Amino acid sequence: MKKLLPTSSAGSLPKPLWLAEPETLWSPWKLEGDTLERGKRDALKLALHEQTMAGIDIVSDGEQSRQHFVTTFIEHLSGVDFKHRKTVTIRNRYDASVPTVIGPVSRSKPVFVADAKFLRSQTSKPIKWALPGPMTMIDTLFDDYYHSREKLAWEFAKILNLEAKELEAAGVDIIQFDEPAFNVFFDEVNNWGIACLERAIEGLKCETAVHICYGYGIKANTDWKKTLGSEWRQYEAIFPKLQKSKIDIISLECHNSRVPIELLELVRGKKVMVGAIDVATNTIETPEEVAATLRQALHYVDADKLYPCTNCGMAPLSHDVAIQKLKALHAGAELVRQELTSNH
Ligand SMILES: [Zn+2]
Repeated sequence: MKKLLPTSSAGSLPKPLWLAEPETLWSPWKLEGDTLERGKRDALKLALHEQTMAGIDIVSDGEQSRQHFVTTFIEHLSGVDFKHRKTVTIRNRYDASVPTVIGPVSRSKPVFVADAKFLRSQTSKPIKWALPGPMTMIDTLFDDYYHSREKLAWEFAKILNLEAKELEAAGVDIIQFDEPAFNVFFDEVNNWGIACLERAIEGLKCETAVHICYGYGIKANTDWKKTLGSEWRQYEAIFPKLQKSKIDIISLECHNSRVPIELLELVRGKKVMVGAIDVATNTIETPEEVAATLRQALHYVDADKLYPCTNCGMAPLSHDVAIQKLKALHAGAELVRQELTSNH
């Protein structure tokens, strides 16, 4: 990335009113059949346009063609039964009705590659594509076949690698794996979670990122955060091993969080997508507030490795709020960019 402090969003953006119910996760589609496919493409174009107008440097599809960042990917795989659902507790936090693994998992055809090609055809800006991480995938399922979290995660990693290679060939610049589960299952992350992630990026030449946050701004997550005490030190358990991993970029929640910012020192040398926008509030950050978070991060992240970002996806927010937040991110990054270039 040639531009200093290139901005991006962590992932999802709100969907248009005509496509899905606003401010709702797993919202059912309002369209069907061919009309739905056209609608998703139009929504992608709109999301791209809005990111461009807000001044975002690394753009994405805003996850407009997915109902959910994990389940939509899983729905496309064989070996998973979506009719026999079970209730599991996701990340030890909230119950959700999820599909069941009933046989060997495999990817019979590409999942997002056509969408990525379409996004590539619409912009010359760098593009980032998000996939669920292996550990977060197994945490959003009931496994009635492998009976081993590690084994199933490894199978998913191999599938993700196939998809990632095709996304790279489609012209994606950064492939991001969403691993909020990394913030919960520390022993597993260190024992096999990071190894699975490295299996998922094996042989890729494009840049790779892992997004590790404290979740969408939904009630189950904000309630959980209240139990975490005055200092959130979850990252401390996994950063040393991540620092040594082959992943290029680490995407983190920082703004308005109780993560001690000095923990970033533990991943020094990596590129860091610093969350400078809170996705759990409708209050729009001022550019100065965004800049303050970025300046703090600059003590631990070299300027050429700092990527201003949002704390998490913004799908559950209202459309207007999300757009204003993207604009604030751009304006805050610009303030710091000017300071950095005038100092040199
Ligand atoms: Zn997130």
